[in-house]
Amino acid sequence: MNTDHHLAFLGIATGETGSRCVVCGRNIDSDNYHVDRYNRRACTCHNVQCCCFCGRIIGNDAVDVPYFGTACGRCGSERSYDELETIRTFCYSFFASHKLYLPAVRICLLSAEEMQLAHGSPEGTPRGVASRNSSGYRIDLMRQLSRIGMAKTLAHELAHLWQWHRNIDAPHTYCEGFCNLVASLVVSQISKTEALVILHQMMENPDPAYGAAFRELKIVYDIHGWQTLIEAMKTFQDRS
Ligand SMILES: [Zn+2]
Ligand SMILES: [Zn+2]
Ligand SMILES: [Zn+2]
Repeated sequence: MNTDHHLAFLGIATGETGSRCVVCGRNIDSDNYHVDRYNRRACTCHNVQCCCFCGRIIGNDAVDVPYFGTACGRCGSERSYDELETIRTFCYSFFASHKLYLPAVRICLLSAEEMQLAHGSPEGTPRGVASRNSSGYRIDLMRQLSRIGMAKTLAHELAHLWQWHRNIDAPHTYCEGFCNLVASLVVSQISKTEALVILHQMMENPDPAYGAAFRELKIVYDIHGWQTLIEAMKTFQDRS
């Protein structure tokens, strides 16, 4: 499952003037303004919101995402199966090049509402869920994610599949931490500001599994490399 906290970050900055406000379109003539991690700016007189998926300040293209929040237009527009195919190919190339073999899986796009009905809990609506039953593996992804957000979520869920397929039964924290490490490595191949924002958020996530265990495994990976990390995960293999 993937329930990472939102990317919203908003600060009041003081700096150069003359940039355009993403809400009203006027030049910001004060040296005080709202600013997000993309360096998009808005006048302090607006009651600004950040996109629940990518964290951008929302201009005039707010889209209500039921059960989830308010998204910017680029995230709120739903991803198509054609886009998913491009994202899937991108994620699979990472798994292939790291010798993580994946079982066959059916990947489905669900609206936020459908996601809530199928997998919602009091903690919220997940962005992605992997499941397995007698008919095989399945991954459900929220359609409204940004492309990079979807790549991150899909990579995370595929890492669950790899663990199940290899009978790796790690404690919850390492299970999710490993999935987030894989997701971070996939996202780090994308040279876009949003990828940096996502990586920043992952590094700051206070959650014991998605944050702390992820960072612990990242240190193993950074110092000892990929092979050592995989060997460490395989110590949780159930050989019974
Ligand atoms: Zn997960
Ligand atoms: Zn403005
Ligand atoms: Zn967005």
